[in-house]
Amino acid sequence: MGFENCNIIYIWGFSDAVGAFLHSTTMSILVNPVVDFGIALDEKSFALMPRLTTGSTQFVQIANYCILSVMSKTYYPVIGLEIHAELSTASKMFCACKNDPDETVQNTNICPICMGHPGTLPSPNKKAIENVIKVGLALGSNIANFTEFDRKNYFYPDIPKGYQISQYKFPIVSGGSLKGFDITRIHLEEDTGLSKHDRGDFTLVDFNRAGVPLMEMVTEPVIHSAKDAADFGRELQLLLRTLGVSEANMEKGEMRVEPNISISDDPNKFGTKVEIKNLNSFRSVERAIEYELARMQALYEAGRQDEIVQETRGWDESKQTTFSQRSKENANDYRYFPDPDIPKFMLSEMFDNKKIKEGLPELPWEARERLASKIENKELIEIFVQDNKKKAFLDSLKTKYPGIAASYIVSSIKADIIRADLNSKVDQVIDLIGDGKITSTAAKTLLDILITEGGDPEKIAQEKGLLQQNDEGSLRIVVKKIITENGSLVSQHKGGKESIVQALVGLMMKETKGSANPQIALKLFKEELSS
Ligand SMILES: [Zn+2]
Repeated sequence: MGFENCNIIYIWGFSDAVGAFLHSTTMSILVNPVVDFGIALDEKSFALMPRLTTGSTQFVQIANYCILSVMSKTYYPVIGLEIHAELSTASKMFCACKNDPDETVQNTNICPICMGHPGTLPSPNKKAIENVIKVGLALGSNIANFTEFDRKNYFYPDIPKGYQISQYKFPIVSGGSLKGFDITRIHLEEDTGLSKHDRGDFTLVDFNRAGVPLMEMVTEPVIHSAKDAADFGRELQLLLRTLGVSEANMEKGEMRVEPNISISDDPNKFGTKVEIKNLNSFRSVERAIEYELARMQALYEAGRQDEIVQETRGWDESKQTTFSQRSKENANDYRYFPDPDIPKFMLSEMFDNKKIKEGLPELPWEARERLASKIENKELIEIFVQDNKKKAFLDSLKTKYPGIAASYIVSSIKADIIRADLNSKVDQVIDLIGDGKITSTAAKTLLDILITEGGDPEKIAQEKGLLQQNDEGSLRIVVKKIITENGSLVSQHKGGKESIVQALVGLMMKETKGSANPQIALKLFKEELSS
């Protein structure tokens, strides 16, 4: 542990555990440790506390603060996720109202059905059901033969009917997995309206969102870290976008992640779980879970684990803390029963799952595997997996250098010029780079000319002096010229600033319109500067 760079060490833990730790360690603490016990830390130091305990001691350093947490035992975090995603259908779940998340005029897309007027009849949106089936098929889940809709009864101002149409006993999808984490179920329900509390002493309700099809995914409690939970959410978002079933923008509330969290000091037992609501970014998901695990761990260490109660907690973004909202309802509080106004469905008669599966686009994990055979760099692969337009463009190329093409597209082709008719030109330019005939700097100039004027790439490269120059004799002349013209850079280099040589190579590339072979240029500068 690198204590030598610490100005202040917080030792976090209870006296017995800290004492035993200090006794057992041969480490000598040379600085004055500020020893802080228990959970009576101020908010700032609590926020800095090491978040997750998988072993009994943890050490983190933030600037020159070092925090050592000494736990008396190991804790086992268990996280399950409930994720809601609004489906991007043309109309709402049970009526013909427009499903438009961008509608800015309140209470525009409403009708007697989604307003729950007496005597109206809901009629389910087939496309929404199909979208949920698509997600299930992508995740290797079971698609139910039979399904029905239930009423989930509770009163809230933004629920016009006094109940929400959801699914209880017969979800459309069950089982399957994402990123190796098991999924319990995916069901379909309607979204609520939106209460606005920002207008003073009263609340306004916008019902545009009421009745929008909402998919709810529930995972098994099989996730064990905040990062894995956030990564699961990111991967689901990518899948929903790839399938085209949801925009899944967290900041627009189109996707909402609600983790339930518990820790236990016994790996075979679950602790009491709490649920965190209203997280609107993956970063908040990660931070909130980390915070909550630390809070629970602190209560365990203090012998106050009884104070962990089953409840719903909120996340305060400004304070980066969770806070108690209300005690959690159990399923039987909702008095679920099948909606008598909606027919039951034999899904196997309505949908051809085999055909739907065949029609699915390439899934993110399939794309990763396929691209890995062409592109080495994992981060580069991920850019294409995340961006369908770029991926389709790369796939349309026939160049023998797909790896060069991938980095070229990312670094040099602006999104607005990615067009299918450009691919044969890009192919030729990439081949010229791959064959060592032009540099990637010159390739950018060349492509600009091809876009505006057209023509034969190799010919233009020749005419405009863009062909890569590998001839040491003529390059050395330019190198000498640049050295003569840039006395101050040269003297900085002589003064020991080795990195200056890169700036000189940059000037060389500019001087030669990117045609100089950069490796040779670098070599020549090093030779000339040391002579
Ligand atoms: Zn409606």
